[in-house]
Amino acid sequence: MRLISNLSIWIVLLCILLLSACATSPTGRTQLAFMPDAEIDSMGLQAFENLKKEKPIEQSGKKVQFVNCVAQAVTREVGGEWEVVVFDDASLNAFALPGRKIGVHTGLIQLVDNQDQLAAVIGHEIGHVLARHSNERMSQQVSTNLGLSIVQAVAAPTTPLGQAAVSALGVGAQYGVIMPFSRLHESEADIIGIDLMAKAGFNPVESINLWKKMSQASHGNQPPEFLSTHPSHDTRIEDLQARLAIAQPLYQQAVAAGKKPKCVK
Ligand SMILES: [Zn+2]
Repeated sequence: MRLISNLSIWIVLLCILLLSACATSPTGRTQLAFMPDAEIDSMGLQAFENLKKEKPIEQSGKKVQFVNCVAQAVTREVGGEWEVVVFDDASLNAFALPGRKIGVHTGLIQLVDNQDQLAAVIGHEIGHVLARHSNERMSQQVSTNLGLSIVQAVAAPTTPLGQAAVSALGVGAQYGVIMPFSRLHESEADIIGIDLMAKAGFNPVESINLWKKMSQASHGNQPPEFLSTHPSHDTRIEDLQARLAIAQPLYQQAVAAGKKPKCVK
C-alpha cells in the first residue's frame, strides 16, 4: 500500500512537471515554476496580513502620501489593485508579495532623495512578483523533496513542510522575517524594475544613485531583502548602467505621453 501511494505521488509530480514545469520569466529566462499561482497569491496575502498584525503601521501623513503616490504610478503600468502599507521600521527595507501586496519601511523613505529613487525600489520589488520568483523558489524546494506532496505543503502552512514553503515565499509568516532572494532573482528584479520605473515616468538614472546610497548607508550591515545575497554593488551598478540603453528611451516615451509623476517626499 505504501509503495502504491508513494508511486502515485511520484506520478502526480511527474505530470505536473511535464505539463507546466517550464515557464518563461518576463526577461525570457526559462524557469521551473509549477506551483498553482492562486495558492502562492493566497500565501502572500496571509503573510502580509500577519506582518500587518505584528508590525506598527504608519496610517497617514506625508510619508504615506509619498509612498502611495509613487506606488500608484508604478503599479498603473502593471495593472491590478495593489495594497500598499508603510511599516514604522527604521531598517532600509521594502518588499512586494504575490497577491499584489507592497510594504515599505519608514527607514527606506528617509533614505531616498526623491520620488525616482523610491520608484526604483518599488519597481525592483514588483519585479520579483512579476517574475514569479516565489513560485520558482517554492518549486525548486519542492522538486528537491520529491517524496513530499506539494498539496500537503500548501494546504498545511503550520506544519514544518508548510513553514518551509511559506519561507520560500519570501516571508517567514510566523516571524515577519523577509528571506533573501538569490543573485539571479535579484539581477532579474533589477532589470524588470528599471524598465518599469521608466515606463511610469520616473528617471531611471536615479536607480543607480539609489543603489550607491544603499551601499553607503548599509556600511557592510546588509538589510535583508536587498543586499544579503545580492550581486556585488559594483556588478549591480554596471548592470543597471548597461540597461539604461533600454530604460532611457522608455522614460522619454513615458514623459512624451504625459506621464510626469509629482510625488513629494
Ligand atoms: Zn530583491
